[in-house]
Amino acid sequence: MEEQKTVALIAHDGKKQAMLDFVREHRQVLERYELVATHTTGKLLRDDLGMKVQLMLSGPIGGDAQIAAQVAEGRIEAVFFFIDPLTAQPHDPDINTLLRICNVHEVPIATNPATALFVISARAL
Ligand code: PGA
Repeated sequence: MEEQKTVALIAHDGKKQAMLDFVREHRQVLERYELVATHTTGKLLRDDLGMKVQLMLSGPIGGDAQIAAQVAEGRIEAVFFFIDPLTAQPHDPDINTLLRICNVHEVPIATNPATALFVISARAL
C-alpha cells in the first residue's frame, strides 16, 4: 500500500484564525493527507475542527525546526505556514531554516492564505 502523503500546517498567533478558516474551507482535501503541525496550531485544529493532526513542539521551542527536519528527510509534501509579517518572532532563525530547507528540497511552502489557496486549488499535492 502506498504511504500516505503528509502536509505540515503552521500559523503564527496573528494568523491562527486565518489558518482555522483555511482548514475549515479545505478540510475535504486536507483530510486525505497525514497532517502534522506545530503544537498550538495543531491543538487548535484538533479542538475547534476535530482534525486528526500529529503535534510537534510549539514553534518558538523547536516545532518549526522539527518540521524542517522532516522536510529534509523527504517526509513532507507541502507546507502551509501562515507567517505574521507584522510581529517580531523570537524563533526567526528557525523560521528561516524552514523556508530555506523547503527551497533546498523544492517543497511547496505557502506563507500566506492567498498562496495557500493557489496551492490547494492546483491539487498538485
Ligand atoms: P505554534 O507555533 O503553532 O506552537 O503557535 C507556530 C510558530 O510560531 O511557529
